[in-house]
Amino acid sequence: MSETKKFKTEVQQLLDLMVHSLYSNKDIFLRELIANAADAIDKARFEALTNSEIATDWEIRIEADKEHSILRISDNGIGMTNEEVIKNIGTIAKSGTKAFLSALDKNKEENSPDLIGQFGVGFYSAFMVADKVELISKKAGSKDSATCWESDGKADYSIDESTRENQGTTVIVHLKESEKAYLEEWKIKEIIKKYSDYIEHPIKMSITRKKEDESEETTDEVLNSQKAIWLRSANDITEEEHKNFFQHLSHFGGDPLMHIQYSAEGTSEFKALLYIPEKAPFDLFSQDQKKHGLHLYIKRVFISDECNNLLPDYLRFVKGVVDSSDLPLNISREILQDNPTILKINKNIVKKILSELTKLKENDLEKYVNFYHEFGKNLKEGVHSDFANKEKLQELVMFESMTNEPGKLISLKEYVTAMPEKQKEIYFITGEERAVLENSPHLELLKKNGYDVLFMIDPIDEWVVQSLTEYDGKKLKAAGKGEIELDDESKKDTDKKLKKASKEHKNLIGFIKTSLGEKIKDVRFSKRLTDSACCLVSDEYDPTPNMERIFKAMNQSMPSTKRILEINPDHALVAGLQGVYDKSKDDPKLAEFAELLYDQALLAEGSPIPDPVNFSKRISDLMVVSLGK
Ligand code: ADP
Repeated sequence: MSETKKFKTEVQQLLDLMVHSLYSNKDIFLRELIANAADAIDKARFEALTNSEIATDWEIRIEADKEHSILRISDNGIGMTNEEVIKNIGTIAKSGTKAFLSALDKNKEENSPDLIGQFGVGFYSAFMVADKVELISKKAGSKDSATCWESDGKADYSIDESTRENQGTTVIVHLKESEKAYLEEWKIKEIIKKYSDYIEHPIKMSITRKKEDESEETTDEVLNSQKAIWLRSANDITEEEHKNFFQHLSHFGGDPLMHIQYSAEGTSEFKALLYIPEKAPFDLFSQDQKKHGLHLYIKRVFISDECNNLLPDYLRFVKGVVDSSDLPLNISREILQDNPTILKINKNIVKKILSELTKLKENDLEKYVNFYHEFGKNLKEGVHSDFANKEKLQELVMFESMTNEPGKLISLKEYVTAMPEKQKEIYFITGEERAVLENSPHLELLKKNGYDVLFMIDPIDEWVVQSLTEYDGKKLKAAGKGEIELDDESKKDTDKKLKKASKEHKNLIGFIKTSLGEKIKDVRFSKRLTDSACCLVSDEYDPTPNMERIFKAMNQSMPSTKRILEINPDHALVAGLQGVYDKSKDDPKLAEFAELLYDQALLAEGSPIPDPVNFSKRISDLMVVSLGK
């Protein structure tokens, strides 16, 4: 019995976009339907390994019915049950759809077709060219009858029982009057050659030709070359082919930045063709992205694209195919996860990817930096998580720095090479933005000595510096943490000076400490300030306020850690305050000034102050006094 169902709102929105906006490259609807057909055959072929009920003479068939303006795309793949049709075709289960819609909104028509497929909206692209689409599907290996789905792509769809002789799915595209070109043999051939040539199942079409004697002859033609691209020799593959294959694999638009073709022999035999995308997808950090890994084939048979152990998580942006000849074909997907062969492949390809990136950095820095802007965060994740490859990864990460103009990235090696001879440690500072860090009082002494400081303005940098504590025998030192000791010579002088100041102003320092109470851990004279009156520093092993901010942004609670108020012994304020204190240690101004010192230290590093109203009041009072009114 036929049943009519309403599309979910999101589907309706999507369909509306398909029909009205995405007109710049309609050809891809055929690519999408053929890709679905090929996926369905891959799935059936995998099932057939353990289920003899499944027919295995795989083919995708295109039929152009000019009389009725109908294009049929059939496969004899896995098919769908009634419930699966409703679930897969009637709704969009994927969480990324909202993101897709908003991305479309931003990109407008111009880039839209590239986005199709990214969020699994491939099937609906048929409505770009059709005013009605039917789908008839019969699940492989099942005795149930077939299901027919039909819609005009507006508000609803109908679903009904149907008949279909064999397993698989047929999509019947009723072309709009204006889209009849898609019935032409040359057009279909052109699209298939362009987008679907590498599909390893034959895409067949019956073609009728007039013979010399005017009689007609119909033959089946295979429209694609079916060559698994990763098995071909590197020189034979054109850029265009790489681009198309990448788009097929990646489920997101755009071009590959580079490809890596690799053939491993010896203890582990496999071939890999890997792509690094030019642009990061905007759901790079969502769970959906993590699910779709490399496509694993065993002796040319597609096994899975959810074999997470093929690549470490941080390299999830790499797309591609691995074809192994060592694994048994009937391996279960669960066992695949911990299989030693898989782990060996993983080790091999990670090494290969990192060495290719190293080569790129050495030979074409501009291209590498473009890559790094997109996926640098991933490499930083690697520094933190991939202990075995840390050495290589730390050569690949880059940062902005104080002595280089904004936007320019340098590597740790470059930093170290430029270090003045007397400098012993690698200095960095973490924070939210460069403009604030540049003026941070924490950097005054370093600036004065001509030391460079790495700006770590990516939230993940806080994690990087937890793992990357040393490079080239030099410690990485946070400019805003603990004590700063430049070199032995200047250390002697500063130590002497601080000792003297601490003695002279012992009671004043004690007063400030008591006055600020719970707000701070300690008050001491500073070695790192040359101009500012004061700053706040974290204890060597305490989290920074930047870290606390990041945790808060992730909605995770973290108790705030008290910090040390450092005061510049050379600043005129010290002598001034001492004067007031000596006159009367009960002067209420002293407590006010202590608060002001604390607040300005917060402001200088870009942190919010706890009580802005009181702060302004104190400043106004000070202005009144200074104006002599
Ligand atoms: P995607 O292919 O990106 O998942 P689609 O909208 O193209 O998104 O298809 C949605 C789902 O419908 C597919 O994931 C698949 O489960 C199912 N499907 C589509 N076409 C076919 C087909 N020819 N055979 C079997 N299942 C199909």
